[in-house]
Amino acid sequence: MELTERQETILQIVKDNGPITGEHIADRLSLTRATLRPDLAILTMSGFLEARPRVGYYYTGKTDTEELNNQLQKLTVKHYQSIAVVVSESDSVYDAICTMFLEDVGTLFVVDKQGYLAGVLSRKDLLRASLGRQDTEAIPVSIIMTRMPNITICKKEDLVVYAATKLIERQIDALPVVKDAGGEKYEVVGRITKTNITKVLVDLANNQLF
Ligand code: ADP
Repeated sequence: MELTERQETILQIVKDNGPITGEHIADRLSLTRATLRPDLAILTMSGFLEARPRVGYYYTGKTDTEELNNQLQKLTVKHYQSIAVVVSESDSVYDAICTMFLEDVGTLFVVDKQGYLAGVLSRKDLLRASLGRQDTEAIPVSIIMTRMPNITICKKEDLVVYAATKLIERQIDALPVVKDAGGEKYEVVGRITKTNITKVLVDLANNQLF
């Protein structure tokens, strides 16, 4: 949450002098108590200050890190996911390489005949499969992909922090965002990548979360 200059000043006054009454804060700013009322309401509602009757306002000690943490707990995958690029199991390694270039993505998801998630193809999977061979058109992606059930997935309502943790733990670049279709089958509805996670950082820095 971005505070106005006046709210920052109030916060500083309370930090240095609290507990302090609204009246006294107003005096220090040469403003009326009524003018300050909305700012004090915002600062108390957002948890920066607490007000005690007959005592005044005091600083809750909520740190910027806690505030940042609060913000991050609100961000879910659906706010930051991208469109998934998929190929089918029977497509060749050659086709997959072309799709990767054309769609400008680093990870492809592979779907079976029913359209459910079957595998993942990374850049290095495709490089490895094509090193020193001319017949990439003859190799189906199904024999080189990382396949279900060894795929790390996430759902659109998961926290972005959860997805980021999985990317780090598994040392991978992307997770498919899936919808449960029952019977251990998943429909691919998006993808979340290291680039999407980097966007969270940039948005936080610019105070422009989704
Ligand atoms: P690269 O292989 O280009 O470095 P990654 O680090 O994303 O890219 O992939 C490393 C390996 O992990 C690859 O073999 C890939 O198939 C596999 N992989 C990628 N994403 C996932 C995922 N979401 N779940 C399981 N395995 C994955």
